[in-house]
Amino acid sequence: MKVLKFGGSSLADAQRYMRVTEISTTIHQASGAAVVLSAPKGVTNALGALCDQAAAGEDYSALFAELDKKVNGIAEELNAQLDGFEFARISDFIATHLSALNKQLQGIALLGCSPDPVTASIMSLGEYISVNLFSAILTAQGVNNIVIDPVKYVLAEGDYLDSIADVALSKARFSDVNTDGSQLIIMPGFVAANEAGEKVTLGRNGSDYSAAVLAACIDAECCEIWTDVDGVYNADPNQVEGAVLLDKLTYQEAMELSYFGAKVLHPKTIGPIAQHHIPCLIKNTLNPSAPGTLISNEASTQWTSVKGISQLDNIAMFNVAGPGMKGMVGMASRVFEVMSNAHISISLITQSSSEYSISFCISSKDAQRAQTLLEDAFALELQNQLLDPIEVRHDLAIVTLVGDGMRHTKGLAARFFNALSQARVNNIAIAQGSSERSISTVIEAKRAKKAVKVIHQNFFSDRHTIDIFLIGCGVVGAELLAQIEKQQPTLLGRNIQARVYGIANSRKLLLNSQGIDLVGDWKAELADAQDQFSVERLHDFVNSNALVNPVIVDCTSNASIASQYVDMMENGFHVVTPNKKANTDTLAYYKKLRNTALQTNRQYLYETTVGAGLPVIDNLQKLFIAGDVLHRFEGILSGSLSYVFGKLEEGMSLSEATGTAKENGFTEPDPRDDLSGMDVARKLLIMAREADLELELDDIEIESVLPKGFAEDCDIATFMEQLPQLDAEFSERVANAKAEGKVLRYIGSIEGNKCKVMIKAVPVSHPLAAVKDGENALAIHSDYYNPIPYVIRGYGAGATVTAAGVFADILRTMPWKQNAH
Ligand code: ADP
Ligand code: ASP
Ligand code: MG
Repeated sequence: MKVLKFGGSSLADAQRYMRVTEISTTIHQASGAAVVLSAPKGVTNALGALCDQAAAGEDYSALFAELDKKVNGIAEELNAQLDGFEFARISDFIATHLSALNKQLQGIALLGCSPDPVTASIMSLGEYISVNLFSAILTAQGVNNIVIDPVKYVLAEGDYLDSIADVALSKARFSDVNTDGSQLIIMPGFVAANEAGEKVTLGRNGSDYSAAVLAACIDAECCEIWTDVDGVYNADPNQVEGAVLLDKLTYQEAMELSYFGAKVLHPKTIGPIAQHHIPCLIKNTLNPSAPGTLISNEASTQWTSVKGISQLDNIAMFNVAGPGMKGMVGMASRVFEVMSNAHISISLITQSSSEYSISFCISSKDAQRAQTLLEDAFALELQNQLLDPIEVRHDLAIVTLVGDGMRHTKGLAARFFNALSQARVNNIAIAQGSSERSISTVIEAKRAKKAVKVIHQNFFSDRHTIDIFLIGCGVVGAELLAQIEKQQPTLLGRNIQARVYGIANSRKLLLNSQGIDLVGDWKAELADAQDQFSVERLHDFVNSNALVNPVIVDCTSNASIASQYVDMMENGFHVVTPNKKANTDTLAYYKKLRNTALQTNRQYLYETTVGAGLPVIDNLQKLFIAGDVLHRFEGILSGSLSYVFGKLEEGMSLSEATGTAKENGFTEPDPRDDLSGMDVARKLLIMAREADLELELDDIEIESVLPKGFAEDCDIATFMEQLPQLDAEFSERVANAKAEGKVLRYIGSIEGNKCKVMIKAVPVSHPLAAVKDGENALAIHSDYYNPIPYVIRGYGAGATVTAAGVFADILRTMPWKQNAH
């Protein structure tokens, strides 16, 4: 005979009851079945809430009506579908019990509290309704069935609301149950009786445990737990995208996973079935053909090391500490005795080796009680200051990594904690069972989802995620989005999920927790968006969506955004930018940015601030870290001015060359930004600082293309109109240079600690003479590159190469990761 258990998730409506009936009868015909049922979905929660509302003196009538409607609704629907359904009997049963419930609730309201025996009786009502519905369906279908009441059979002890079954004594009581398979046996889950014969419950979610107890008591060949997922996954599939279904688990592994929060199985379930060597199969009611997960003595060959990650919520942590603790024999046992006498179960313990403190975790619901009891028990020690005031931390969660094979695999703990540090999750306490079957960390509850996700990514999935927030969607930003969109198939092929979750401009912020559809009209969506950019807003969004690798990409040239990079990194974001303002701010801010990046373990990447897409910064950093020393630098660092001076050489006037450059999009919107030399000066300062020169922007000597004060205060159009005034002078300079066999180039140079930006006449044989049409060239003379310099040269202007460089930086934020399993 098999025991089958169907949870509330399998019993949501009449349709689901019919499906459960079909599965049960098929198995019953093949091997005989005893079916354990939970309450219909949501009913136990509603009953619990009714008790609470009544006890608090609140009006519970709306909730009561809702419950009434729900259970009667299922009965009515079944009646409509099934000939011979004993509707009158069932409605009568429901009406009688709901009317009794109403009276009990009135009593609770008068008392102002719900005594545990009463709560136990109320909480289990859903299970009784459930088995009556099911039995009526079977009877209508002509299946011989019998409902047995656990109050008569399952003996349990302990708390009224969280009892533990005594399998040996219960087994004797089952001797009068006919298990020859002629009748389909039905038993409500979750319920048992204490020695006095009073109804008790086995703890929330306890029907799994009822099924295990029944299986042990009737020596079932198998215990099948039917639920709403395909089996046990390595993490909650409803929380973690890409969770992997496990084919097999040992009893110990299943115990550890469920104990540490995998709700798919109640932790007490494993005891009885492991003891009696009954295999347990987890199956999906909604997908019966899936093989499910087998829990037995057999280990999986597919997943040999780490099996899963689970999360236990609603945890409070106590810390009992004080000078009197040291060497005080029996302190630990006194603390735990207080808990055990109060039936408070402890989920994790750590003790400092100095014996100065003991920390342990319990469920939040018991925290208040535990604190009072401990303070009473240690009143004397507290009074005499042998103990410090008992410290309680609330709103915590325990995240645990579980697997039998962990004993034989080194470095798992390191990887576990590495993952947590990647996600910037702080460990409040840690514990590793001496069985080495699990490692647990206590963390803030609000970080738990993110922690599970990032640990999962590190151990089970080869997928890297990059969670992108773009600020500034002008030419470069828009091009970047287009490139990210275009590269999606390639990235996914390499297991990289680069999703854009946010786009902001100076007025609006568009956020989408599913990722913004870049094929769609994101511009229109942004225009309609209601949010505004702030680091805090993005931080909240990242937290509520448990994003593990958030990157802010600043494609503005805005100084005020640049001044927030420290704040961004401190809030967990990597920063990638082509914006030169941060790197050319004060030296103090420049240093602070780098320190913050180190301290926060975030990346600050700005490859495109010099030479657009050309690999300048990264190469310089590699050279200098390897001990090279800069002697001299010379280069053409502006794509726009490279173009303009190239055109001058070809005979165009300055105004014509600037106009053409502007029309082709080679200049900043206001060409004065290029012609002033400021842009080149900033690039030069960034390079100088990479070479450890402690300079400020003011230290750069700049020769502007424009005479001082020329057309400074007018609009762009007027400036362009006035520019021809300079044509004659420039034509003359170009001609003079030509006469000497030279060409004019706009050059940035570093010599010693002197940085200069100027118009220079160079011989046509000079390497920089050939650099024009938007090209950049950089010649680095150093200890290692001497006398022939290190040269980087290539197209250094335009949105395409800049966006590609930014994209490459974004990809560099992917965390380092070992291969799993
Ligand atoms: P039932 O009503 O059938 O008892 P539960 O809601 O109690 O169902 O348990 C099933 C749920 O357990 C799943 O929907 C899933 O969200 C959750 N769960 C948590 N951890 C795991 C895990 N490791 N594997 C599978 N399911 C899990
Ligand atoms: N109905 C009970 C609960 O919701 C027991 C169970 O479903 O396992 O806790
Ligand atoms: Mg359950």
